[in-house]
Amino acid sequence: MSNEPERTETICPYCGVGCGLALTEGDQEGDVQLARWNDAPVNEGALCIKGGAAPQVVNHPDRLKSPLIREDGEFREATWDEALSQVADELRRIREERGPDAVGFFASSQVTNEESYLVQKLARQFGTNNVDNCTRLCHASTVAALGESLGTGAMTNSMRDLRESADVYWIQGANPAENHVIAHSQYFRKAAQDGTFVVQVDPHENETTKDADLHLRLKPGTDIPLLNAVLATILEEGWHDEEFVEERTDHFESLEERLADFDREQAAETAGVSLDDIEKAAEAYATAENGAIFTGMGMSQHTCGTDNVQNLINLALATGNLGRPGTGVNPLRGQNNVQGTCDVGALPNLLPGYQSVADDEARRTVEETWGFEVPDEPGLTNVEITHAAGEEIRGLYVVGENPVMSEPNSSKTEAYLQEMELLVVQDVFMTETAELADVILPATSWAERGGTVTNTDRRVQRMRAATRVPGNTKHDFEILSEMGSRLFDHGWDFSDPEDVFEELREVCPIYRGVTYDRLGTEGVQWPCYDEDDEGEPYLYAESFETENGRGKFRAVRHQPPAETEDDEYPFVLSTGRIEQHYNSGAMSTRSETLIRVVPENFVEIHPDDAADLGVEDGQRVVVSSRRGEVELKADVTDGVKPGVIWSTPHFPDAPINRLTNDALDPEAKIPEYKAAAGKMEVSVEPVEK
Ligand code: SF4
Repeated sequence: MSNEPERTETICPYCGVGCGLALTEGDQEGDVQLARWNDAPVNEGALCIKGGAAPQVVNHPDRLKSPLIREDGEFREATWDEALSQVADELRRIREERGPDAVGFFASSQVTNEESYLVQKLARQFGTNNVDNCTRLCHASTVAALGESLGTGAMTNSMRDLRESADVYWIQGANPAENHVIAHSQYFRKAAQDGTFVVQVDPHENETTKDADLHLRLKPGTDIPLLNAVLATILEEGWHDEEFVEERTDHFESLEERLADFDREQAAETAGVSLDDIEKAAEAYATAENGAIFTGMGMSQHTCGTDNVQNLINLALATGNLGRPGTGVNPLRGQNNVQGTCDVGALPNLLPGYQSVADDEARRTVEETWGFEVPDEPGLTNVEITHAAGEEIRGLYVVGENPVMSEPNSSKTEAYLQEMELLVVQDVFMTETAELADVILPATSWAERGGTVTNTDRRVQRMRAATRVPGNTKHDFEILSEMGSRLFDHGWDFSDPEDVFEELREVCPIYRGVTYDRLGTEGVQWPCYDEDDEGEPYLYAESFETENGRGKFRAVRHQPPAETEDDEYPFVLSTGRIEQHYNSGAMSTRSETLIRVVPENFVEIHPDDAADLGVEDGQRVVVSSRRGEVELKADVTDGVKPGVIWSTPHFPDAPINRLTNDALDPEAKIPEYKAAAGKMEVSVEPVEK
C-alpha cells in the first residue's frame, strides 16, 4: 500500500486561465499542501506565483468561522438559525414595504457556477432582476459588444488553437504575461517564439512588451481613433476580405461611411502614435493567414468600453478573421469563474445561457423549470445598486464580493453601503465590505468546496473539496439553499452541487450536454447542446449566434474619457493588475509569499515627470483626484508614458479606487477605471528600498 497522501485535483482560485492544481491534506484542519498535477488539461502542471501560493490562505487566522450579527454597532456570534432567520425576515419586510426591486443581489466570480446560479435564482424568485457580479467592473462592455455583434459574450477561440494556428496576435489593452501568466507562458509566448508576429497596443510597457514585434504606445483613452486609423488603412489598401464581408456580415456600409475621408494623420496624432507604425500594424494583421485579437480591461474599463471592443470586432469582421482556428476576438477574463458566473445568468438583463429577460419564449422555458414568474424588465447593475442605497435600494445581499475595495470612487461606495437598511455579506474573510454588514454568513473557501467553474476559453471544469469544512462555516450552495427554503415554498431542495448543476443544465442551453461524469479531468468547452456534443474549441465556423446568423458591424467615434487632465489635475491616472496580487487583495494580501514579494501599493511615474515634481524613486507621495487622496510609494519608470501615473487596486491600506472615476459606459454600465485626472505631491522622506 502506498504511503503517499491522497491528492485532490481542483482548480486555482485566482485567474480565468483555469489552471489545475492538486492538494493534499495535512493533520491539522484546513492544512493543505500543494501537490503536482502534471497532466492538468490547461497548464500541464505549471503554476504562476499566485497559484503556487494559493494554499497558504486556506487556513489563515482571519477566516470567518461563525455567523455574526451586528448589535449596538458591534458584531456578536450567532447560530446559523438566528442569522438566516434574521436575513430572511428582513428581506421579507423590505419586500412587503417597498417591493422586490428594493433589494439587490451580488453574485461572485470567485464561487462556483452552481453557487452563482443559486444567487440569481434567489433574486429572481424574490421578484427582481437586480442581480449582478463583478464582471460589471471588468468586462461588461466586452460581453455587451460581443453579444450584440457576434451573439456570445465569450472568447471565440481557445488557448490551444491560438497557440497552434495564429500567424499574428493583436493584443490591445491586455497584459497576459502578468495577468494570465500560464496562458502566456504555455501558449502565447511559445507561439511568439515560433514566429507569430505580435502587435501590442497599450499605453503601458509591461512584460507582454517583451514579445511584441510592434508596440503602439497610445495615450490612454484613444483606442477608437487608433483603430479607426487601422481600419481606414485596411479599406484604403483593399486588405479587407470582401467575400467574408458579403457572405457573413451586415452593416459594413456604416464603417465605409464613417471612414470615408477619415483623417488618419489627425487620429495618429490624437493617439500619440506614428502613422507609419499604425500602417505596419494594419498590414501585419490584415494580410496574415490567421490573425487573432486579444482584449482586456485596458479596452473595456472606459466610458466608451463597448465602442472600444466593438471596433476590435469591426477589425476582425472586416478582415474575415473569425470562425477558424487561430483567429477571433478573445477577451482574457479575470477571476477564475467570471466567465461561468455570466454563463449561469448572474446578470440583470440575462438569464442562464445569455437568454434575454425580455425574450418571452426564453423566459417561459425557464419559468417552466423554476415554477415561478421571472420579471421581464432588466434590473440594476452593481454600481447602480450601490448608488441607489437608501433610495430605490434598501437591502443588499453580497456573496463573495468586496465593493468597498473594488468599486470606483470607493469612499462614496462605503458611504452608500452604510445607507442600506440590510447589508448581508457571505464571504470567507472579514473584508472591508463585511465590516459594514448587518449580518455576516461565513462560507467555505475554494479548497473546501466542490462544484464547477468555467475558464476564459469556456472550459467547464470540476473543483473538488480537498479538506474539511472549518469551524461553523457552510458551503455557499448550502447557505443559499437554506435561505431559499426559508423564503420560498419550493425550488430549494438541493442535496449537493451536482443536484444544482442538473437544474442549471435544464435552463442553460449552452451547458445542456455537460454532465459531471462527462467533465472528467479534461472538462468540456461550451456550447455543448446535448450529451453527444463534444463542445466547441472555437465559435462561429458556419454562422454567428445573432438572430439572422450574420456578424454586425457598427462604426464608432472617438469619445474622450469622462474626466481629462487639466491645470489642477495634470496627469492621466490609470490602474491595472500586477502578477503577484489579485483584485481587492482579500486573498493575495493574506499570502505570506505574495506580500513578501510585493508588500505594498505603488504608483508609477515617468522619469521626466518625476524630475519636474522633485520625486525620487521610492519616495512617498500623495496621489489625489477630485474624489480623494492616497499615500503611495513612487516607482520612477519609463514603463509609463509622460503625463500618465499608474497604480494597482490590490492593497486595502492604500486603496487606489478612492480616486478612480465612477462615470459609467452608457450601454454596459462599466466604470472608467483606466482614465481619471490626477495629481501627485511629495509626501515625506524617501522610504528604505
Ligand atoms: Fe492560477 Fe491564473 Fe496563475 Fe494559472 S495563471 S496558476 S489560474 S493565477
